[in-house]
Formats: sequence, structure tokens, C-alpha cells
Amino acid sequence: MSKNIDRYLNKHTSQAFTSRHTHRTKIVATVGPACDTYDKLLELVYAGVNVFRLNFSHGSHEDKAKIIEHIRAINEIEPYNVSILADLQGPKLRVGEIENNALDLQIGDILTFSNEKCVGTKEKIYVSYPNLAGDVRVGNIIMIDDGKIEVRVVDILKNGDVKVQVTLGGILSSKKGLNLPDTKISLPALTEKDLIDLEFIIEQKCDWVALSFVRSVKDIVILRSKLAERKSKTKIIAKIEKPEALTNIRDIIIESDGIMVARGDLGVELAVEKIPLIQKELIRKCIHRGKPVIVATQMMESMIERVKPNRSEITDVANAVLEGADAVMLSGETAAGNHPALVVQTMVKIIKEIEEKEYRYNREDDLKPQTHSPSFLSDAICYNACKLSADVDSKGLIGMTQSGYTAFVLSSYRPKAPLFIFTKEQTLVNQLSLSWGVKAFHYNEEISVDDMVTDQITILKERGFLHSGDVVVNTGSTPVHLHLPTNMIKLTKVE
Ligand code: PGA
Ligand code: MN
Repeated sequence: MSKNIDRYLNKHTSQAFTSRHTHRTKIVATVGPACDTYDKLLELVYAGVNVFRLNFSHGSHEDKAKIIEHIRAINEIEPYNVSILADLQGPKLRVGEIENNALDLQIGDILTFSNEKCVGTKEKIYVSYPNLAGDVRVGNIIMIDDGKIEVRVVDILKNGDVKVQVTLGGILSSKKGLNLPDTKISLPALTEKDLIDLEFIIEQKCDWVALSFVRSVKDIVILRSKLAERKSKTKIIAKIEKPEALTNIRDIIIESDGIMVARGDLGVELAVEKIPLIQKELIRKCIHRGKPVIVATQMMESMIERVKPNRSEITDVANAVLEGADAVMLSGETAAGNHPALVVQTMVKIIKEIEEKEYRYNREDDLKPQTHSPSFLSDAICYNACKLSADVDSKGLIGMTQSGYTAFVLSSYRPKAPLFIFTKEQTLVNQLSLSWGVKAFHYNEEISVDDMVTDQITILKERGFLHSGDVVVNTGSTPVHLHLPTNMIKLTKVE
């Protein structure tokens, strides 16, 4: 055992230092006015939130800084390692202010979209997209407000104005989003606003940054280089919500650290009936690559108002769990809903019911290590550690990692045994809160493998995760000082 072991044991707070969460599919909750105080955030953490999403489409940096401070304060005293996911708006197009915040649009009306700022009327509406006239073609569709209103381009004028005809009417209010499913948009992946927000996100050391409307792998490469310039450890989530992203999905998954199935905009840009199979396919591909995948939007939408979810919503959450998503996400339900904590509690119940009764654990046989992969040897260790852990009915699968790779791979096998990850990287401890089934611990000793294994088992025993007689499987790397990829499996009976 290490001479520093006392540092990791919390004799006085040992009870408190056992996270109460038992759901293995993680929960991402969006923070907004309905939950942005310390007490409300803490209530959500107790209810089951693993990751808070800060949506940079709304609110000021000042408000975000306060929320981040609250989450960090919670992490100081609670053992949940709640992670922070900063969500960049990306090239989202919007209309400007609308006169009286309501414009009644009827089928057949002709409107003018302009890149000159103005208060929107039937004569002229501002659109936050300077090159609209250059990118659209006559006949292209423009969807407004999640597709509630639809117009078609009828004329493109030399002064940059675009004339459109309403094909699906409705009431247009200020700042509503636009989607152009059949137009190639020339806006950069990171807008000026995104770059300013990114600076803040790097300074605040957020754990994850999500990029909206990813179109190609280049978008991720650009974001990655901005992070690298600043030596940032923030990891990247690519939000899949454009048809172009689907055609480049293999490379986008490889280049990103995780994926969000952003069903809100995806359902506007593509026919809605395509979403279920896209979701299934994205989850499958991400598990295959060991990348966390989040299913997002309208999972418990009716609970923004009501105290019980629709039957279809219960089934939607359950299906995402069955498909093997790492995490399910709440948006308006927690950010602006009437019952943020109740939504999370309800989601936890659905997740646990499925995980207890029907979940398909130990998927390692679907994911055999590939001989040609550069990580083949460590993949083979992780694969066999997971198999062994099932064979001996172990009560813990314990991994050590510095890069995070071993943790993501072990998690991707969805082991039945509880998965514990030890790392010296504090950022990683929080980042792993997004990964299916992972409970991560900060551990910064470099001693013999024997001593490290003993320490880790001691820590888990003290926190009530392991008991005398339990069998555990450890992975690690020897010789310790060489910091090689995972190359060792050990089987221990807990004393
Ligand atoms: P958003 O992304 O909530 O930032 O739009 C999620 C989605 O589009 O589903
Ligand atoms: Mn979106």
C-alpha cells in the first residue's frame, strides 16, 4: 500500500463520499433559469445529473461563470465529479427582431430577407447571414422556427436581398432559427461569436466543448487546433444535426472525442422519420470506436409543463438506453421547465428499470480487437479484462489511464461489473462522467503495480463499492515508470 493512502481515504466523510448514483447510462442536463442557483444545481446532482450543459446560444458569460463556480463548488464537497459541457452555437442562422414580436405569415405571402439590420415586417426581415444571397438558389427551402414555418426562394436580388414565398404559414416571432436543408452554407464552422465563447470556455477549463452544425471533419480539426494552441485539455463533442455530417460520419467520429445525436435540428434538416435509424446507427458506430454518444432533445418534453411524461417519451428514453447510448440529455426540461428535479428522477427510474431487467451488458464480443489497429495490444487487454470480469462474476473492473483511452474502451464494452477508473488527470476524472458506467477517481501515486492495485481496492472498499470476498479485475501497465499503454490484467480476491 502507498504511504500516501490516507490522502485518498475520507475517514470522516466516508459515507458522504460514496456517490448515490447507480444508473449507468449517464444524464446530461441543460442549465437555464429554472435551475441555475447553487441549491437547485445540487438538487439536480442528487437526483442523478452527471453532466451539466451550458448552452452558449443563450445568456451572458457573467451568468455562465456563476454557474461554473456553483458546479465547481459542488464538486469540492460531493463525490459526483459533475462534468461541464459547453455548447457552442455554431453557424446557426436566425431572423432579427420582429415588429411586436409577431408576424402573421400566410401561404403565398412574399417576404424579403435582408442582411441589413431592421425590425422585421412583411416588407423586410433581417437574417443573420451575410452571404444568404450568394449561397441560396431559386427553389431552395428555408425552414423557420424548427420547421413550423416554411418558405421557398423565388428571387435573388443584386443588392443581397432574397425574396421568398411562404409555403407553410404561421406566426413568426423574434430571433427564431432558420434551417436551409438543401443549401450549402458558406459560414465558417466557428463564427465570431463562437471564437469569443471558446476563449471563455478555455479560460474556464470546461471539460467538454460541443460544436453545433458540424458539416465536415475539417470543422473538428479547426476546433482541435484552436484548443491545442492554448494547450487546452477540453474534449470535443460533434453535434450531428446536418445531412452533410452524416455523409462524413466515419471521419467525424474518429476526429471527435464524442458525438451528440442532436435530434432537434436533425429533424428539421432531414425528414423526421429518418431520425430513429440514424440514432441507432450513430450509437452503434460510436460504441465501436469507443467514443461517448449522447442522445438529445425532446426526451421528456411534456414534463416542461406536466409532472408525468408521455408514454412515448418513456419509451424513447428506454430505447436510447437499450441501444447503448452513453448519455441521454435534457434541454428545456431542466433549463426552463416547471419540475427540473422531478424530470431527472423520472429519467433515472426509466434508466434503472431497463438496466436491471433487460440491458445487454458485455458487448465485447461485438467489438473484437482489430489486429491492424495501432492500439491492438491494449485493446486486446481491455477486451479480455472485460471477458474475464464476466467469467468470474467480478464485483469491479478497475482501469488505470492517463490519456483516458483505456477508460473509453472499457466503457464501450458495457461491462456488467461496476467500472472504476483511476487517473492522475483531474480533468479526466470529470470528463469521464459522460461515459457509460464509469466512476472515476483521482489517484496520483507512481509506485509498484502491487501497491497501486492494493490502494485502489482499499479506496473502493472504504467507500462501500467493494467487500471482503469480492473478486476484482485490474488493468494497468508495467513497468510503471515507462507509462506504456495498458498491458496487464490482474485478478484479486478482496481481503
Ligand atoms: P440545440 O442542439 O438544443 O443546441 O439546438 C440540440 C439539437 O438540435 O437537438
Ligand atoms: Mn441544434
